[in-house]
Amino acid sequence: MARVDAIVLGAGIVGTSVALHLAKRGMSVALVDKRGPGEETSYGNTGVIVGASVFPTAFPRSLKKIVQVALKRAPEANYHWGDLLKIAPWLISYYGFSTPEKLKESAVKLRPLMGRALAEHKLLMEESGALKYLRETGWMTIYRSDKAFEAMKPQLEFGAEVGVAAKPLDTGGALALEPSLAPVFRHALHWPDVASLSNPLKVTRAYAARFSALGGVLVHGDARSLHRSDGRWRVGTENGPVDSGEVVVALGPWAPDVLAPLGIKVPLGIKRGYHRHFDPKGNASLSRPVVDTEIGYALTPMEQGIRLTTGAEFAARDAAPTPVQFDRLLPHAKALFPLGEPNEAEPWLGRRPNTPDSLPILGRAPGQDGLWLAFGHGHWGLTLGPVTGRLIAEMMTGATSFADPGPYRAERFM
Ligand SMILES: Cc1cc2nc3c(=O)[nH]c(=O)nc-3n(C[C@H](O)[C@H](O)[C@H](O)COP(=O)(O)OP(=O)(O)OC[C@H]3O[C@@H](n4cnc5c(N)ncnc54)[C@H](O)[C@@H]3O)c2cc1C
Repeated sequence: MARVDAIVLGAGIVGTSVALHLAKRGMSVALVDKRGPGEETSYGNTGVIVGASVFPTAFPRSLKKIVQVALKRAPEANYHWGDLLKIAPWLISYYGFSTPEKLKESAVKLRPLMGRALAEHKLLMEESGALKYLRETGWMTIYRSDKAFEAMKPQLEFGAEVGVAAKPLDTGGALALEPSLAPVFRHALHWPDVASLSNPLKVTRAYAARFSALGGVLVHGDARSLHRSDGRWRVGTENGPVDSGEVVVALGPWAPDVLAPLGIKVPLGIKRGYHRHFDPKGNASLSRPVVDTEIGYALTPMEQGIRLTTGAEFAARDAAPTPVQFDRLLPHAKALFPLGEPNEAEPWLGRRPNTPDSLPILGRAPGQDGLWLAFGHGHWGLTLGPVTGRLIAEMMTGATSFADPGPYRAERFM
């Protein structure tokens, strides 16, 4: 049986970054996953490192939009009737945190992490040879109506206060940056400080390889085997049991599988999302991710093709995929950009692990010695993985943390 200074459960971008930060501080670490690093949610996202974004993604508050979603006509959202009752308490709480005031409050609390997110990625990329996947061309959000553009005002004002750059463009200005787009929109914003990745999976894999190079142990195992044994934590792996005084739960959407049996209840909602890769027609190309805000999808240039990612689907985490949003989105997406044929048989399904206030849950687990929490990054886990790794490692090693971890404590929900 092996004994290490820390066990990290979950090798997504969050767990891998935590494990790497701990290994960099000289700790012996076992990173446990049932799959390979970055193969779940951290694989299929939009690839945006959105350190410059300001307000969290909100539950729609306009009646028209809610009715459109309820009637299953909204391209940006879908839901499963059968799961509604089960997820209703989380949805109601999320709705409560989606007022303009609450969104701003969460944005303020998230700033210390967001503001440092790209710099922390770059540090890890440099040492793990992953800089080649980084694109620093910003991202573009487009607005088909004046109303939608006007609605961005509070965000832009807040962004200006905290030093987030966003350049308003008319259609011509946007097409000068992205000539393959069609002029089906009236306004755009170019966010120059946002970065993106051409292959999120390979970035997590590179961080995992760096972790191994520093002596970290990457091992297959089932996190649900976690239990206390002789005053320590123990988890079963394919190499036998591993023991430690410290364990970090970085299981993203699967965190409750381990926490519920320990009596820790966290309000983690799942916003499912899909992607599909398309070959562009002819010589069409994109230099940065483009978000069609009112229709609710993004197009990102990836190594695999143009990745179209969808908005939210409210359904049980483990329910079968229902990628109906593609039918609603594709006519709009194809009118905006010349998408050719999909180059994969089926869409990919991912699960965003969301808290109602859109802040991650980070820090010590209440009532369980040596148990640490690092999950709930929702729409922005790829962005926040490395900065989370630093914060958790600083807390675990007793160093002065670069940011006050108070706003992220699990106790805020208890
Ligand atoms: C469509 C879509 C688009 C997105 N776009 C962006 C974006 O542009 N920018 C951004 O910042 N974020 C984006 N996100 C969000 C981001 O992808 C997630 O927040 C992030 O990947 C979560 O990382 P994680 O490490 O917490 O979880 P995961 O990557 O899911 O990692 C959890 C790990 O736990 C493992 N695991 C689960 N159960 C067990 C078990 N019993 N035993 C052992 N291991 C287990 C899994 O195998 C997995 O590897 C997007 C998400 C989606 C779905």
